Amino acid sequence: MGVCELFWAGITIVLLLLIPKTLGWDVEGHYATCKIAEEFLSKDATAAMKQLLPESAKGELAAVCSWPDDIRRELPWSRELHFADTPDFMCNYEYCRDCHDSAGDKDRCVTGAIYNYTMQLDAAYNQDNKVVTKYNLTEALMFLAHFLGDVHQPLHMGFLGDLGGNRITVQWYDTNANLHKVWDRSIIRSAMETFYASDLAAMIESIKRNITLYIIYLPRFTHWLQSDDRLFWEHCPNNSIACPNPYASESISLACKYAYPNATQGSNLRDDYFFSRLPIVEKRLAQGGVRLAAILNRIFAPQTKVAQA
Ligand SMILES: [Zn+2]
Repeated sequence: MGVCELFWAGITIVLLLLIPKTLGWDVEGHYATCKIAEEFLSKDATAAMKQLLPESAKGELAAVCSWPDDIRRELPWSRELHFADTPDFMCNYEYCRDCHDSAGDKDRCVTGAIYNYTMQLDAAYNQDNKVVTKYNLTEALMFLAHFLGDVHQPLHMGFLGDLGGNRITVQWYDTNANLHKVWDRSIIRSAMETFYASDLAAMIESIKRNITLYIIYLPRFTHWLQSDDRLFWEHCPNNSIACPNPYASESISLACKYAYPNATQGSNLRDDYFFSRLPIVEKRLAQGGVRLAAILNRIFAPQTKVAQA
């Protein structure tokens, strides 16, 4: 047994007692991520995606992006694929150390799941046709789209000890919440009410505009695209189709820098916290959407099939 295995095997028994109630972005966050992705999909990826989607989606990826949350009871094995918490106060992500479930099974975490479902789709579309029948590609697409959202929620790479903020009870203005829920939904819902007349579509349009336009007009988005742009977000090293580990590293780093500070047990989080963290949430929704589209564009790119024919 290697050092990596020893590390997580040692904490397995404790983890068995701690089944996090993490869901990832709530419905709005997942819908926004997938709606943004739809905007950046190539023609080929859009066509392939529409073929794979269930009829109920009516051709809209965003309509089924919360499906993995809806079926957690029916598919209990999928519950722990939505996150990858890190040891307490470790502000970096290491796949070998952090990607396992509470039983200690390796690769069962959000970045492992992204690799897995990317591989399934890539195998079906770009590799030997024999593997096609092995996988449910509709489910693979819906899981992949959902987990790309989850990996961008900073507290899905939160600390093990507080279950990614689930154990930190706070007040969000005058309502009881926990820190994880604040990041899953409260910041998004408060933004919708405050800036977009409770209209999610308007909020998504605003985020999309800020991705598309390189010049930023709205002061509260000023640190969005100054140092990194859409092309940088899309890039994966070594021509990889998906590269979720750096996204997880970004998340835990943001959790340490923005989610946990000033949000200790019993804190009352109000304007100061809301206005300073909202740009982070909107940027993460944008990055999740852009990167999901980039992955699907790479999977469904026709030149890949030609090159391998
Ligand atoms: Zn989730």
